[in-house]
Amino acid sequence: MEKNIVLIKGDGIGPEIIEQAVLVLDRIGEKHSHKFNYTDVLMGGISIDTHGVPLTDEALETAKKSDAVLLGAVGGPKWEDLPGHLRPEAGLLAIRKGLGLFANVRPAVLYPQLKDACPIREDIIADGFDIIIMRELTGGLYFGERNIETVDGVRRAYDTCVYDENEIRRIAVSAFEIAMKRTKKLTNVDKANVLDTSRLWREVVHEVAKDYPEVEVIDMLVDNAAMQLVRNPGQFDVMVMENMFGDILSDEASMITGSIGMLSSASLGDTKFGLYEPSHGSAPDIANQDKANPLATIISTAMMLRYSFDMEQEAQDIENAIDKVLTEGYRTVDIMSDGCTLVSCSEMGRRIVENI
Ligand code: NAD
Repeated sequence: MEKNIVLIKGDGIGPEIIEQAVLVLDRIGEKHSHKFNYTDVLMGGISIDTHGVPLTDEALETAKKSDAVLLGAVGGPKWEDLPGHLRPEAGLLAIRKGLGLFANVRPAVLYPQLKDACPIREDIIADGFDIIIMRELTGGLYFGERNIETVDGVRRAYDTCVYDENEIRRIAVSAFEIAMKRTKKLTNVDKANVLDTSRLWREVVHEVAKDYPEVEVIDMLVDNAAMQLVRNPGQFDVMVMENMFGDILSDEASMITGSIGMLSSASLGDTKFGLYEPSHGSAPDIANQDKANPLATIISTAMMLRYSFDMEQEAQDIENAIDKVLTEGYRTVDIMSDGCTLVSCSEMGRRIVENI
């Protein structure tokens, strides 16, 4: 197969981690006879410095024409004082919107080799966990009508949460599709005991469920889900929820893995196209020092192969190589522990490539 991939290296550690992901992709291409073509696109601080805006229309058009986008990270202290719409992070919102990406997929996996980093008691996580949080990205409270106003001399504010059935249906379909590729268990998270948007959400999820009779659907209220994530994370496989619930629970789920440098993510739309990126930021404190952990980006690359290119074996090759390198005790500084061998970003990348 031949695939066209847009690379957005971004700022800070972005270029270093993307470089390792490309070496991994090239090795996969060599092993499985695929050709990956890369096009660099500027976004974030580097685009502000070059073009005056965090994302140009041309950059977005180039991304639209590709088969998938692999993104490092954007932002840094240099651009922090710019007005909101000119800051590097505005590029992130613009590209997700411009590409019609409405589902954010964030895995939270506890690697047995990194159990020490998990803040949860050992007996609770004895069997590990492997969760995927699916968050709706373009609707709900963050995009509804809002205002701060003064009425009769009293300040008040409101935000509105609106979902229509089409917005709910399309993310529900994505969640069921992913559940079908895994253990066929889907937890639907809402607040249907209080919110009308949640009642419609639950209704539509169950309508979609009729097309996926093999998938077990469990409804869970969001407050309970927040508790259960720390009480017994092993009970979950795929979890689907609206935008704000997903914002909060995906951070909680990533925290319980304990390792920010290991967390990948994908943003998906109606088609196979997707944008893949680590969940962490541009880590300016360690940029240009060959210290960053490239694994979150490499795991995101495996997700790209699995979800956008249907290359399951290739994705597993990457995941197995990561497993092997961790078992051999190699660690970047963020996941270092006693008795392990400290390696740089490029050394970690090289070892993954060697094991594919
Ligand atoms: P951060 O994730 O960049 O860093 C938090 C801490 O984790 C730092 O100590 C950093 O060194 C460490 N860290 C992060 N990724 C690491 C990795 N791969 N390997 C080793 N250590 C790693 O978050 P922050 O410091 O809050 O933000 C820094 C910049 O990144 C800000 O400008 C912020 O706006 C931006 N940001 C960008 C994205 C994105 O591009 N998607 C996401 C979050 C933050």
